[in-house]
Amino acid sequence: MEKVIIVGTGCAGLTAAIYAARANFSPIVMEGREPGGQLSTTTLVENFPGFVDGIDGPMLIMNMKSQAQRFGARFQYSTVTALEPKGDHVSLQLDGAEWMDTRTLIIASGASARWLGLPRERELVGHGLTSCATCDGAFYRNVPVAVVGGGDSACEEASFLTRFASKVYLIHRRDKLRASRIMADRALANPKIEPLWNSAITEYVTDAQNEMQAIAVGDVVTGAKREVEVKCVFVAIGHTPNTAPFRGKLEMDPEGYLLQKNGTQTNIPGVFAAGDVADRTYRQAVTAAGQGCAAALDAERYLANFE
Ligand code: NAP
Repeated sequence: MEKVIIVGTGCAGLTAAIYAARANFSPIVMEGREPGGQLSTTTLVENFPGFVDGIDGPMLIMNMKSQAQRFGARFQYSTVTALEPKGDHVSLQLDGAEWMDTRTLIIASGASARWLGLPRERELVGHGLTSCATCDGAFYRNVPVAVVGGGDSACEEASFLTRFASKVYLIHRRDKLRASRIMADRALANPKIEPLWNSAITEYVTDAQNEMQAIAVGDVVTGAKREVEVKCVFVAIGHTPNTAPFRGKLEMDPEGYLLQKNGTQTNIPGVFAAGDVADRTYRQAVTAAGQGCAAALDAERYLANFE
């Protein structure tokens, strides 16, 4: 029987791992399909306290992992596929096969990128369609690209992409950005970025090799349509919480975010939630880290009942 299992290796999971490891529980940390979480696909993080000049997202994550390992956290590449409450512990199914028992579980599985839901979308990923500018931006030098969305992610990605692309269309379904002032101003002041307001992509247009070559864009107010030549579309329209394996067992809101009470507790005793998987409001690296810390402290208190 494990004492603490942590699901997820983003800011929340790794901070929980540091705290649980320092409390001598040698937690097992499950690295799922997206190790490192969202920070591992971002560039400079300028708002994590303590780094005057900012720090690269992947570097921040690597540092947190090393810090957790230094205190005895164990890492395992497994994806949790099911959860069964057993009264004084929970059983976790890994990769659809073996089961593992643990006294406490900290779910910090984060949230994954959303897509537009257009035809052939999945098959175009990697062929001129992506959700990660940091990963794929450098492949599109001196060609026009598009970013979809009006939040901080869209603005950040659009600004980043101007380092490579000849032009960046920022396609937003409204006439006002949702992004924070500083990010929005930075993007709109960039001469390489052209916002297409009140606009939505209605079709991906590909060449004979099935690579992106243009998008059909509709004006959601006038209904006017136009074709815009782009070699890549970067979708930045937010995220969906990774809670599918817990459906029917853990209480969630209609969008699938885990519900917490008395801090980070879920409806199953001994199961705690931290970070973006339970946070639809703040969704920041530092708030995720704070929740990871809180979840580890809550787990520690819960474990005291069994001493
Ligand atoms: P977000 O704030 O939820 O914005 C999503 C954007 O996508 C919105 O503009 C939304 O339009 C649009 N959208 C949603 N569904 C759409 C669809 N089906 N079709 C077209 N457009 C759609 O998500 P985010 O930008 O990923 O940011 C998430 C959180 O992370 C925020 O709290 C943000 O501040 C934070 N963040 C911070 C930084 C930073 O500080 N460095 C960087 C990135 C993200 P509407 O506006 O019409 O709803």
